[in-house]
Amino acid sequence: MIRSEILKEIAPILRDHLVVCNIGLPSQELHMIDDQPTNFYMLGTMGLSSSIGFGLALAQDKTVISIDGDGSVLTNLGTLPTIANNETDNYILLIIDNGSYGSTGDQPTYAGKKTSLSAVATACGCDTVIEVQDKDLGPVLQSAIDSKKMTVIVCKCDSGNIKLPVITMDPVVIRDRFMKAVQA
Ligand SMILES: [Mg+2]
Repeated sequence: MIRSEILKEIAPILRDHLVVCNIGLPSQELHMIDDQPTNFYMLGTMGLSSSIGFGLALAQDKTVISIDGDGSVLTNLGTLPTIANNETDNYILLIIDNGSYGSTGDQPTYAGKKTSLSAVATACGCDTVIEVQDKDLGPVLQSAIDSKKMTVIVCKCDSGNIKLPVITMDPVVIRDRFMKAVQA
């Protein structure tokens, strides 16, 4: 499965939750598949989906899911020890690991070579780390949400992109409606 197929499959699970989505194609895909005011689409700041989502989880009680990519996590590797050492049970980091920098043309990442992001997360001190194959993600994500335990999920999948338009919604609108959803 490629990332857009995964997002389509988990969209019904994501719908009820605050979601911070990685810059570029992941956000464009989620926006196209199931736009929700509870989705925060990052239109800048590569690498910071996990940090923004984690900060939001620390600041309030609702469950927050960061959808991140392998390339993004490798860009901001300091995020994993930060998350591990400041555990909050309303946070899930979902790393869709396709072994490539998808949004910039599928250049390979080290996560698709010798570096295991689940092993890195465990080594950083994250207590609950689950590596899962794409087709098995749905139930794993649902049970991570139900467990109310901070969880890092590394979902291994194929690289590949679909053609789709950029998000034309004003960033201020994305932010404002998301803030309303946070406070609702
Ligand atoms: Mg990737």
